[in-house]
Amino acid sequence: MKMVSHHAGFIPGPVNVGVIRDEERIVLIDTGLDDQSAKRILKVVEEADCEIVGILNTHAHADHYGGNDRIRKLSKGLEFIYAPAIEDAIIRYPITEPVYLFGANPIAELKGKFLMGKPSPAEPLPSPSIPFGDLEIKVVSLPGHSINQVGYVCDNVFFCADTVFPSGIIEKYGLLYCFDVKAQLKTLRSLKNIPPYRMIVPSHARPRQNISLLIDENLSHMEEISEAILALLAVPKSAETLVAHLGEQKGIPLKSIWQYHLHLNTIKAYLAALLKDEVISVFVEKNTLVWVRK
Ligand SMILES: [Zn+2]
Repeated sequence: MKMVSHHAGFIPGPVNVGVIRDEERIVLIDTGLDDQSAKRILKVVEEADCEIVGILNTHAHADHYGGNDRIRKLSKGLEFIYAPAIEDAIIRYPITEPVYLFGANPIAELKGKFLMGKPSPAEPLPSPSIPFGDLEIKVVSLPGHSINQVGYVCDNVFFCADTVFPSGIIEKYGLLYCFDVKAQLKTLRSLKNIPPYRMIVPSHARPRQNISLLIDENLSHMEEISEAILALLAVPKSAETLVAHLGEQKGIPLKSIWQYHLHLNTIKAYLAALLKDEVISVFVEKNTLVWVRK
């Protein structure tokens, strides 16, 4: 457990798990992917002679809530599990993610642990500010990456969830998952005007005092993808054909059926934004849903 202020810290890992500490009582921000992640978190908390009394999830992607179940079962003092509205329902019914990615009863390939964590009870956040001992944990709305993602602020530390990814991850995957492009752009731009925090803790990047560079890198990635899609649509194409052409152009390594669905849905998020901006149109031709630049 690395404390970055008196009351706030994190447990580093593939997903940085936020820790808010009041004496020996701890509230976790997210719980990692699975039982293994939960085990690691429980060990760290035990070594610090602390007790987990609450879980605050940022959003309902499996790598952020998959550890809820085991932590809940092994933490006698647990008082609450909160998540933003809608995301709380997905955490209770994790089949929802494969369902929305596939659009029908999902095939087995979409039901692996990366898209479907173990179900866990979760209640919608009761207020924009969660009291915790003498502390206050403020909820910050950060939609775009997922339908209703939030971040949390406590003791001058901002846990900003999956709003920004480091350039290494952008290069590795070629296309950052996004649910709502317009909302994500708005969220990223709003983060450019945040007050100075003692520390900002993204889920998938090292904590830092200033995330301006990360925000700019994420914004330019999104602009680049948007422009590439628009250019490819000089010739009408289906969303599936766009996945193939964009992948070829950007050298995107699509290796699995579930990854393919994340990409296809992200491209649909870009198409929806471009359609709203009235720079493309959509129609059905020869039984194919076709998108084209205006
Ligand atoms: Zn996520």
